[in-house]
Amino acid sequence: MSSAGDETIPCPECKHAQPFTVWSSVNIQLNPELKEKILDRTINKFVCEKCQHSASVAHPMLYHDMERKLMVWLVYEGAIPQGGPSAMGSLESYRFRRVRSFEALMEKIMIEDEKLDDRVIEVMKLTALSMLEEKKDHTNDKVYFEGSGLNKKGDPVMSLAIISDDQAGQLSVPHGFYSEVARLIEAKGPETGEGWLSIDREYAVNVLKDVDT
Ligand SMILES: [Zn+2]
Repeated sequence: MSSAGDETIPCPECKHAQPFTVWSSVNIQLNPELKEKILDRTINKFVCEKCQHSASVAHPMLYHDMERKLMVWLVYEGAIPQGGPSAMGSLESYRFRRVRSFEALMEKIMIEDEKLDDRVIEVMKLTALSMLEEKKDHTNDKVYFEGSGLNKKGDPVMSLAIISDDQAGQLSVPHGFYSEVARLIEAKGPETGEGWLSIDREYAVNVLKDVDT
């Protein structure tokens, strides 16, 4: 089930208050159009009817893909997901994810669309970051998976967006790199951990720490 509530939100620019639909839960099999609205960022887009100012409304959202058995809870900093996997006992062999930004939710969806493993992608992203030029500090750069494709030579590659404070760039990594990291993750055994897992950079840092020692 998808669920939405109508709220009245003031425009951040001119303070004009107008109704806004807040989607707190999205089931993409029942409402495939909502998945598209996430990917084109219109699901949380507020456009003021008076001054045309547009802004993204940050609110928690539960993303549910019954087919891929995936739930992703978008909760912003400080918020704690309500309920949880234990409250959803019948959802056997599901993966539960927690993300802290809308971009991270979009990325999880794109990873699922290609039937890839987000644990592998996170480790791959972190490793790719460490291979960038060393004269600049990249530790605070944001990296997002953007999809697989072919490079000019026709070799399969994965595209990563690298966003630093002052610029945005793109990096292509060979697809074989993914397979290499996947072997590393497989060697760690099946996914463990209770509740909503944050498969993010911190996860990747810990995986690589285990490898080094
Ligand atoms: Zn306005």
